[in-house]
Amino acid sequence: ADLAMYRVKHTGGNQVLHFEAEMGEPAERRQLERDLRGAHERGELRLHYQGRFALHGVTPSGPGLVGFEALIRWEHPERGLVPPVVFIPMAEDSRAILPIGAWVLREACTQAVRWQFAERGLAMSVNVSPMQFEQPSFVQDVQAALEAAGLQPEALVLELTESLVMRDLTLAQNHIQDLKALGVQIAIDDFGTGYSSLSVLQALPFDQLKIDRSFTSHLTTSASQRVTALLTAMIQLAHSLEMTVTVEGVEDETQRRLLTGLGCDHVQGFLLARPLPPAQAQSLLPAGAESPVPS
Ligand code: C2E
Ligand code: MG
Ligand code: MG
Ligand code: MG
Repeated sequence: ADLAMYRVKHTGGNQVLHFEAEMGEPAERRQLERDLRGAHERGELRLHYQGRFALHGVTPSGPGLVGFEALIRWEHPERGLVPPVVFIPMAEDSRAILPIGAWVLREACTQAVRWQFAERGLAMSVNVSPMQFEQPSFVQDVQAALEAAGLQPEALVLELTESLVMRDLTLAQNHIQDLKALGVQIAIDDFGTGYSSLSVLQALPFDQLKIDRSFTSHLTTSASQRVTALLTAMIQLAHSLEMTVTVEGVEDETQRRLLTGLGCDHVQGFLLARPLPPAQAQSLLPAGAESPVPS
């Protein structure tokens, strides 16, 4: 029952269903929760990086690349790769998300400096969990991570979900105001899947809107007319509020072509690049200026 709850809350798709079937008993989930406690110290957590690409014009960094999203991976010694939709909620429940989230932030900032993001006009996007965001010290933590890595704030994007900001709108307003004063960019992630889309846009000055991949997958199904209308409206709305639009989950050429026609700015998806370990992600950077990636 607990696993079903995780699935409903975090809608992870087939990969997760498969994983849950394998996990079987609740006792196994408790074991996984115990394993998670030491995973960070044992060095089992890694970041993969997925490219985000411009659909229009040429970017300073070459063929469309505008940045990366850092996506956490847990390499379990016996189970192999555990997907974040399974273990991030567990980490939230046990507060382990705080040291994990702090590590993600530092590691992603450090990688952005190694890859000379600021010089190349690229941005590193980092997902923020609700408990992490609600720490009174969150803005200072971000500032400390930037300073420790030596990263320009403009090269960092923090991705917040609608449900995160709706938990405490006043806190979200304060933190976002302070983060923007630092120079950090803010994105609203998984847009269109929550219950409060428009009021959230009214209250909070996001720089980027990321439209959930559930819309993308319907672009080429029988629901395509309605989805096209919704995407057109969301893109227009974002532009009139001076936000950049990224559409997630682009898996084929038809989707890319349709999104280009709709005026979408950026796309992310398996068609362009999967989430990749650092050494492979690095090959997406323009040639000639790579710096070595410590493993
Ligand atoms: P998200 O932030 O919306 O990340 C996008 C997810 O979509 C990633 O799943 C990515 O692998 C997947 N994706 C990208 N392109 C495609 C595509 O073309 N098709 C399909 N089917 N999927 C695509 P992933 O890496 O499993 O992450 C799932 C969620 O876990 C993320 O959703 C984010 O909410 C959370 N997450 C990942 N890393 C972190 C982290 O470091 N901290 C926190 N708090 N949450 C994280
Ligand atoms: Mg994200
Ligand atoms: Mg997303
Ligand atoms: Mg998502």
